[in-house]
Amino acid sequence: MTSSSVTRPGVEPGRSSSAITTAAWDAAVAAIRAVPLDAEVQLICHVNPDGDALGSMLGFALGLRRLGFTGLRATFPGDFDVPEPYRALPGAELLVPEPQAYGKPQLILIFDVAGESRLGALAGLLDAGIPAIVLDHHASNTGLGDVTLVDPAAVATSVVADELLTRLGVELDAEIAECLYVALATDTGSFKFVRSPSVHELAARLIATGISPGDIARRIFDTRPFGAMKLAGEVLGRAILDPAAAGGRGMVWTYATTADLERHHQRPYVLDSLIDPVRGVAEADVAVVVKELTAGEWSVSLRSKGGVDVSAVAVALGGGGHRLAAGFTAYGTPDDVIAQIVPLLEANLS
Ligand code: 5GP
Ligand code: MN
Repeated sequence: MTSSSVTRPGVEPGRSSSAITTAAWDAAVAAIRAVPLDAEVQLICHVNPDGDALGSMLGFALGLRRLGFTGLRATFPGDFDVPEPYRALPGAELLVPEPQAYGKPQLILIFDVAGESRLGALAGLLDAGIPAIVLDHHASNTGLGDVTLVDPAAVATSVVADELLTRLGVELDAEIAECLYVALATDTGSFKFVRSPSVHELAARLIATGISPGDIARRIFDTRPFGAMKLAGEVLGRAILDPAAAGGRGMVWTYATTADLERHHQRPYVLDSLIDPVRGVAEADVAVVVKELTAGEWSVSLRSKGGVDVSAVAVALGGGGHRLAAGFTAYGTPDDVIAQIVPLLEANLS
């Protein structure tokens, strides 16, 4: 974790990970400085955005706005269905539905996207000769974009966003900090999965702007519609434990359908937090939640406590993620999906 940042004004020595070279940071700063302040700048995060995708994108957008950029738009592919807890994030007014994204912006910034499949039709912008900077932290990142700032050691994309803002000379304010804090808290499971003191150092800098972690946590993580709680009861109630899976390390899994969502009048995002109680099952190393997107198409969340490299499992099935948290899109029935996963667990024990 050494760096030569002492030579760069405004950057604290030792903060940048060796995973991103000085040349890459400098290229990103130069690409941003090269466009006029009134240029059309398109920010993009991944389909079905989570707190890190939206928080790092909007926090960075607000930083660019502080620098004077006036042509900012932020979007993500697919349905323009911003999860309710994120609708009041600072900078949310910059969000536009995918069809209103710029057709030929002068600069593209991409957040928390490990591969082109996570960009849907917006991936087409990458072939248009427009400079594209990618900020990400997935080990499975495919290297998309022209400048790739990918640090697999970072707990969240917001860690990378914070450093690039610092290198651009943007000072944190409460609005930027709220976005980056939401992103950090989301991808660390509310700071349960922290790997280095630098995460709490970043959190401390964010909190020092005056944001209220308690209020943010209650709003983002601890508030849900009554119907979402009832739905969770059903989905968790049908979980199955397979102690023999993953070489005897065990797997617990469940599924939720679009019919479940309709019955309880809920939006798909309410299913995303259900992996957390499932992963807490003591008898299983691996947790799986299979969530129906449209008829017969499923978004699959995989988690491990360390006994399996679920990123390798997800990559083998066309997805990606991290060693202990990954996902992919699948087809068929929930049983079909689980039948695809089980042999791959055996093949990727760690
Ligand atoms: P989640 O289960 O919370 O949706 O995702 C866990 C991790 O896996 C996240 O880092 C997310 O970016 C990644 N992930 C989830 N689904 C997919 C997918 O379909 N493709 C890829 N490449 N990554 C995914
Ligand atoms: Mn992330």
